[in-house]
Amino acid sequence: MVKKFVATVLASALIGGSACAATLNVGTEATFAPFEFMDEKTKEVTGFDMEIIEAVAKATGDKVRLHNMGFDGLIPSLQAGIIDVTVAAMTITPERQKRVDFTEPYYQSGLTILIRKADAAKYTDLKAFEGTRLCAQIGTTGAMMANRVKDAKVTEFNSITEAFMELKAGGCAAVINDKPVVDYYLVRRGDDSVMTLPQVFDAENYGMAVKKGNKALLDKLNEGLKEIKANGEYDRIYAKWFGTKQ
Ligand code: GLN
Repeated sequence: MVKKFVATVLASALIGGSACAATLNVGTEATFAPFEFMDEKTKEVTGFDMEIIEAVAKATGDKVRLHNMGFDGLIPSLQAGIIDVTVAAMTITPERQKRVDFTEPYYQSGLTILIRKADAAKYTDLKAFEGTRLCAQIGTTGAMMANRVKDAKVTEFNSITEAFMELKAGGCAAVINDKPVVDYYLVRRGDDSVMTLPQVFDAENYGMAVKKGNKALLDKLNEGLKEIKANGEYDRIYAKWFGTKQ
């Protein structure tokens, strides 16, 4: 028992964290499959991000306590100290980097445009959406891209699922969102009334975010990420959710 305790203390001290095992208050927004979503059977939050942070916490000797909230509430909650870290498929952007600190990237993503198949001939490039209504999730890079389209009216929903429903109901011309999430939706829902444009827009990297200046936690998370990449855990989790290696 004593030995195990000493080993834990040493392990977390070695990887630059606090001297003893901590509970990481992790903020996420669990409607973003396959990264974070509610497992309908177990009623627990699951997904790629959840397994990554669990693996990182195991490597750093910490515990995870999950806080599920709106995507636009994540950064304010970090700043207020309600959570320690976000793991929420959050893209590292220069604007966000002014407000929080990000870990090394842990996933490479990009944005895609989802339309109704019936509109395939009408919408073939970004320019075709000028002056249309576009849907996205609130506070996301998809919403930011939609807002850059000339004269577009943008409706931002709390969850991406609502945006998908609005598109299907004809309430908007397109949904702009992260490509892996749209691909997962298309495959899992077997929805063939909608399709994506072939272009991938805005290459993006996901990072975990901590409160600005929280270097101790940032270093610890980066060490944990490094360790799970070195020991094969990252590849195993990646293959489980995406079927391939990154
Ligand atoms: N990657 C996008 C962003 O950071 C969307 C994230 C999300 O909705 N969870 O804005």
